[in-house]
Amino acid sequence: MSLESHDTDARPATETSEAGVGHGSTVLAPSVIAERIVRGDLQALDSETLLAYLGSEVDVWSLMAAADTVRRARFGNSVHLCSIVNAKEGGCPEDCGFCAQSRHFSTHVQAKKFTPVDEIVEHSERAAGRNASALGLVTATRGLEHDTKALDHVVAGIKAVRDAGHTEAHASVGFLTPDAMDRMVEAGLTELNHNLETGRSYFSKVVSTHTYDERMDTIRMAKSKGLRTCVGGIFGMGEAPSDRVELAQSLRELDVDEVPMNFLVSIEGTKLPPTDPLEPMEMLRIIAAYRLFLPRQNIFIAAGRTHLGQLLPMMFSAGASGMMVGDFLTTANRTVDDDLEMLHELGLIPHRCGDTRPELKRKAARLPVLS
Ligand code: SF4
Repeated sequence: MSLESHDTDARPATETSEAGVGHGSTVLAPSVIAERIVRGDLQALDSETLLAYLGSEVDVWSLMAAADTVRRARFGNSVHLCSIVNAKEGGCPEDCGFCAQSRHFSTHVQAKKFTPVDEIVEHSERAAGRNASALGLVTATRGLEHDTKALDHVVAGIKAVRDAGHTEAHASVGFLTPDAMDRMVEAGLTELNHNLETGRSYFSKVVSTHTYDERMDTIRMAKSKGLRTCVGGIFGMGEAPSDRVELAQSLRELDVDEVPMNFLVSIEGTKLPPTDPLEPMEMLRIIAAYRLFLPRQNIFIAAGRTHLGQLLPMMFSAGASGMMVGDFLTTANRTVDDDLEMLHELGLIPHRCGDTRPELKRKAARLPVLS
């Protein structure tokens, strides 16, 4: 094939400027959106265009090029790494259809007691040694609203991690009362994770024991307490592109700080039927579209990122600004050494989050302009 004919085949109509896509509709080129974002219009991408980007009509390479422009303008060569530890594994009363820790399903996970506080601190030290700036304490619980024993344990764990000083202490513990959240903040919590999992319309197909609004309210409460918020979802659960748009809209509405993007790792025994992983290029498309819709947020790739296979490093050129290192809650990950070597080869630098990244604080959030 000649270079000329190759070029013609590969270049989508949308790459030129504001070009037509599909049957009579017009979609702004990703490069135009990226330019606007870099100039400071953080909401340059609207929901309708996001939906088009998530579909197959817009060329994924154009999308990734635009997303990469925004990532570099916002984060330069820095990459945020974080790590998690199970503070209480298994036996959860909720029925999230993807989760091996629910007691509604028969999976390889057995309910365990609380992880001792000194072990949690060891995890924090290990996480710091892997260049992770935060350790998230995760409990498989509905929440700590009516469970004083669990709350006491989590508070002790947060305080111990804070006092040890290896990493920041984050938590993912389900629903909380305002008082419980206050205690965690006092103990040193800096960020709360509370994923929305998917778009509002699809949520009830995945979870029946609590509602989307309960989740949204918990995130709003965390923000009202001055906590940074880490809120994301899982892709590849059978949701439609419109559900992915709904999730992105909720994340923008809540103005969360970090967005963990997970890709379903089908686990035997869970409610969701066994499902093939999303194709790598589809994963990259979703990451890139989210980067353009959520330009301020630290988007990090967590569970299921190994589905990218050989294309794993391309998650950064698709707009990801971080990744979770070490094992996930119920599934294995690549070795941390492999991940750090990958970053080194890419020329990307692990960067601490939180207090050492004032640019992530909500009020100060500004996109630098590309020089
Ligand atoms: S995702 Fe969390 S709340 Fe849902 S079943 Fe698993 S541990 Fe419980």
